[in-house]
Amino acid sequence: MNSIFKDYTETRKPIIESIVKRVNDMSLKYKNITTDKSRVSFEIDGVLIQCTKEEEYFIKKTNEFRRRLREGQTIDEIMVEALALVREAIDRRLHMRPYDTQIEAAVSMIGDRIDALHRERVIAEMKTGEGKTLVQILVAYLNVLEATKDEDRSKWSSVHVITSNDALAKRDQHANNAVFSLLGISSGFVPGRSATRTTDPAKRMINKKNKQNAYRCDVVYATATTIAFDYLEDNTIYDLKDRNINRSLGFAIVDEADDILIDQAINPLKLSVRPNPNGNEYDKLLIERESERRQLYKWATDFLYGLNRKKPMKGTIFNQYIPSKDEINDYNFDDYAFTRDTKEVFLSKRIQKEIGLDLSDDVKGNMIYNARYFALIDCIKAKEAFKSDVEYRVDVSDGKGKVVLIDANLGRKKYSSKYVGGMQEAIEAKEEYLEWESENAKKRYHIEFSSNLITRATCTYPDFMSIYKHNVCGMTGTSDEEEFNSLYGFETYRVRTRKRNIRIDEESELYATTNEKYNAIIEEVKKCTYTGQPVLIGTTSLKESEIISSLLNKNHIRHQLLNANNEEEENQIVAGAGMMGTVTVATNMAGRGTDIKLGPQVKERGGLYVIGTSRNKSQRIDRQLMGRSGRQGDPGKTKYFSSLEDDLAKEYYRGSLDGIIKIYAGSNKPIKNKRIIEAASRAQLHKESKDKAVRIDSEKFNVSFMKHRREIYENRNKVLECNLLEFINMIKSILVKYVDFLLKNNTEEEIINLIGHLVPVKSLFTKNVEETKENLINALYAKFRNNFSSAHITNEEVYAYVVNMKRKFLSIIDTYWLSHIEYLEDLKYSITLNPSRDPFMEFEIASTKSFAEGLIPSMYNEMITYAINPSMKYGTYIIKNNDNVEEEKYVL
Ligand code: ADP
Ligand code: MG
Repeated sequence: MNSIFKDYTETRKPIIESIVKRVNDMSLKYKNITTDKSRVSFEIDGVLIQCTKEEEYFIKKTNEFRRRLREGQTIDEIMVEALALVREAIDRRLHMRPYDTQIEAAVSMIGDRIDALHRERVIAEMKTGEGKTLVQILVAYLNVLEATKDEDRSKWSSVHVITSNDALAKRDQHANNAVFSLLGISSGFVPGRSATRTTDPAKRMINKKNKQNAYRCDVVYATATTIAFDYLEDNTIYDLKDRNINRSLGFAIVDEADDILIDQAINPLKLSVRPNPNGNEYDKLLIERESERRQLYKWATDFLYGLNRKKPMKGTIFNQYIPSKDEINDYNFDDYAFTRDTKEVFLSKRIQKEIGLDLSDDVKGNMIYNARYFALIDCIKAKEAFKSDVEYRVDVSDGKGKVVLIDANLGRKKYSSKYVGGMQEAIEAKEEYLEWESENAKKRYHIEFSSNLITRATCTYPDFMSIYKHNVCGMTGTSDEEEFNSLYGFETYRVRTRKRNIRIDEESELYATTNEKYNAIIEEVKKCTYTGQPVLIGTTSLKESEIISSLLNKNHIRHQLLNANNEEEENQIVAGAGMMGTVTVATNMAGRGTDIKLGPQVKERGGLYVIGTSRNKSQRIDRQLMGRSGRQGDPGKTKYFSSLEDDLAKEYYRGSLDGIIKIYAGSNKPIKNKRIIEAASRAQLHKESKDKAVRIDSEKFNVSFMKHRREIYENRNKVLECNLLEFINMIKSILVKYVDFLLKNNTEEEIINLIGHLVPVKSLFTKNVEETKENLINALYAKFRNNFSSAHITNEEVYAYVVNMKRKFLSIIDTYWLSHIEYLEDLKYSITLNPSRDPFMEFEIASTKSFAEGLIPSMYNEMITYAINPSMKYGTYIIKNNDNVEEEKYVL
């Protein structure tokens, strides 16, 4: 399947084009479908349907396709007819007729058959403005047919259309529902959490119901964040009625796929809650420890900045992904080393000693528990990698400062989010320190510390994609073929634009200093305000947006600054960016997916002019921004401005360009020297390849984690769903596995220790292992069954016992799983302390060992103990009620 020898697009094109041709022929026939609106009623599979004659034809056709698939035809055999039908439905309801290029994209995304069960995973590359929204409908319809072909409706899975923002998802579902209902399939929209946040319990219930109903539809529109968090939440519930997603996940169609699968690939999503002061022991302990934790981070910050040391710690910054062995082996750097790309910290031997860390060489993946060490690492990261006004911002009001995260892509503040795993504490301690210790602090405010959160579940976007059981496909205006392929095995199919692209991409200009760069940008914008050509200025951060905006203000240039906290408003502003005389300043990702139409008389003025204020971290994102201009054959223009003081260049050259900057500074002219220009662009290439390496490594670290999570979640769901009989069988199979494990790994003595409190073990041991095994299983099982056979027990009591037992089991699974997650985080830290070994291998071995030999047997032991020990039978268990816990999400 790999496209090393022949380009994938070229290989597939002839086949896909011939399908498109056949769809065209078939489309002519479907144009004659009746438009009769008189009412009819008929029955399909025992369901009575009342609709118009026109609808009857489409609905029956859908049913016919399902039947044919059920009877053994393949999707390839019905594809031509089905695409022609949905094209007709789109034409009738949306008054747009899908172009050939859109059919072509759809066919490519459905993919080629690999074997009876699998199809290729394909990303269709289709430029901005070419109509990806309609392609979603085409693909979704074919996927639905496949997902709902079964006669038994309980086996139907759903198709998720994953869009880049909430407002777009809502709009698209709303508009496209007419098409889907004509075809006899249902569609729903699931709003994001921030849109439905409420403290009113009645509203909360309604929201929950709506959400559950939307997820029961054939086609579901939502953002990746929404679905991922709902999925995570479903694996923390204690009652089936709380489950968000009650239909299995069949297909995903991901719009703007490069955003989620590449740019945001390594941001873990974590579902966390505040510890409940009235909650269980663990919660109480966390609250108690909170001030202790604060002290720890304050200590580490002071230590780092030199307050409780003779001098501040000095760092060595590595840009390379992993510092070379020589550099790190003897920890031969000042106080610590920090790798910018992977954000790893290495402490020198001297510092290790100072904080009492014992790192003998034979750690071999054993955990190193040293609270000071972990806090110090967090604080060094806070100092080196987290910049105020870029990653976060300190909001000051009433003399109090609050650290608020900034969404790096959207340049928007994220009030409901915070960092976890110590980063929030580290950043808050740093800001508190800088505010009070620096000499030129003005405001003198205290930082308001946020409370501790408990992580309940975690995943990344790429691994959440793996939960779709049939297939995942995607589309984007700008694909990175090589990366999509090496990371996820996606093929990229490039769809040509319908009209020739006549956009003019100007040579970029490089200045010595940022000031000169900004001046040049303002001059360029001024020229446009004379001619009326609309300008969209794309920045790389919120901070830069604000700088540009204030410069525009100084020059009395009217403009729109995109920093709204509201997506809908944002989309509207972006949609208006093509009107004559408008100037719009926005971070690159803001309003992504919004169609920018040109206003009247703008074509004559050269179309939309896109200005980039600095090069992005990859060429792909540069192209993404440029693609906003020149859509559908419109005229347009783009130009990038950059400087030797930009973050990319500064990060890569670390001061070695200072001399050159001095020479060129003040000329107010772009640098023409070829070698310097080349050197500047090298910084971007470097960043790009380093980021790629990080993503590949993150995937490698993820493999075993994903496997384990799937196993845990499967077991969890089994517990959640089982009835009495299934519960009894589950206990039996747990007993068998556990006893088997014990006999393989433990001595008689140890086994007595482990299960002697349940049954008298000694008498059960014989010389024959198989016999012993049988004896142990039988004894344990008999003891367990005893709970039910007692004459005194009523049906109600049995029921109560199982309900309680299930809850207890869920909480056992959660406790062990969460501690495993924590262990893995720590394991990663400790492994990176010894960079000379193969980190992935080591991680894989240590985590698998801990899972199979630690987590699973301990979990089984606890489950069996509770199931057997009658004294636990009517025990009460404090289980957190989902409805009363305020959720927080955050991304790190
Ligand atoms: P993309 O997502 O590829 O950037 P959109 O789906 O937002 O593109 O579509 C861009 C514009 O083109 C929209 O205004 C849409 O209504 C219009 N459009 C798309 N397909 C068609 C079509 N087949 N006929 C007419 N207009 C179309
Ligand atoms: Mg789009």
